[in-house]
Amino acid sequence: MRLLLPVWFSLFLVGLASGQDDARMKLSWPTTNYAYARGERIENFIQPTVSGLATSGLFGCVRSSGTQFHEALDLMPIERDRRGEPTDEVHVVLDGVVRHVNARAGASSYGRYVVVEHVDAEPAIYTLYAHLASIDPAVVVGSTVERSQVLGIMGRSAGGYTIPKERAHVHFEMGLRLTDNFQSWYDWKKFGSKNTHGAYNGMNLVGFDPLAFYDAFRAQKVDTFADFLRGLEPVAIVRIATTKTPDFVKRYPSLVGATVPAGDLAGWEISFNQHGVPFAWRALRKAAVKDYKRLESRVVWRDSDALRACRCKDLVRKRWGHYRPDSDMQRNLQLLLGLRR
Ligand SMILES: [Zn+2]
Repeated sequence: MRLLLPVWFSLFLVGLASGQDDARMKLSWPTTNYAYARGERIENFIQPTVSGLATSGLFGCVRSSGTQFHEALDLMPIERDRRGEPTDEVHVVLDGVVRHVNARAGASSYGRYVVVEHVDAEPAIYTLYAHLASIDPAVVVGSTVERSQVLGIMGRSAGGYTIPKERAHVHFEMGLRLTDNFQSWYDWKKFGSKNTHGAYNGMNLVGFDPLAFYDAFRAQKVDTFADFLRGLEPVAIVRIATTKTPDFVKRYPSLVGATVPAGDLAGWEISFNQHGVPFAWRALRKAAVKDYKRLESRVVWRDSDALRACRCKDLVRKRWGHYRPDSDMQRNLQLLLGLRR
């Protein structure tokens, strides 16, 4: 018999709430394992890698002794069939619109995956559910899905590698899409293979820590994704000289702290957190970038200790006496601003 769920969770899951909570975003958990809701330890819901350490299934610099980034939570199954394959349903956590369905397991390292954009959330984040065994036939691009609706069945599908049966899981991501013009960047990079995922290719998605968000939401420290993102810690602040307004800024206006009239726009100041999320933006006038060349970017502030501690991302490097964006940040800037260098 299932344990009784704490009250906050039944409100949280079913969306029944009263008084001031009526307006609060309704959010649920992507699987039917309620260990997190019951406040249990991560070992009861996180699927570890071969290392056996539950922390290896969390978000962050959690793999290969901290040098490899994992952009999601890996959630374990709790139900299996006779052959030992998981049968757990995977549920969408918020109302949204299906933006991408990859039904061909071999076509992505995510295997079969679904991306949902939460158009009513602030900002309109995406969630991604990967390594599915199967996808529900009702889940097609453009269809609306309601919170807790079944997206598919948990599995271990993956392109290019094999996830063993005992480590089947759903890879659950939350984040932001860098650009709507991903294909032009992809063509420029000449990867030599076709992009079959449109703008929902993993390279165009930048995730934040889902568990940190759920913790903050449950504790009522944040009510929206905007609240959560505003509270992220910057590790580097970059200025770039451009008169262009990136589609990212138009898509996620709640991340923009200061604007200027269109004719006065001369650049942007962007705060990145340790995982490369461009979480806070400020429009700049000419004076702020007066000695910059067009499209030049400079790191104007950095937290050296935090940068050193984050060993799975290359965000800032010193070059010719100046701090500049390093490879991971440069890639994000290429995608965000159309830079081709
Ligand atoms: Zn994963």
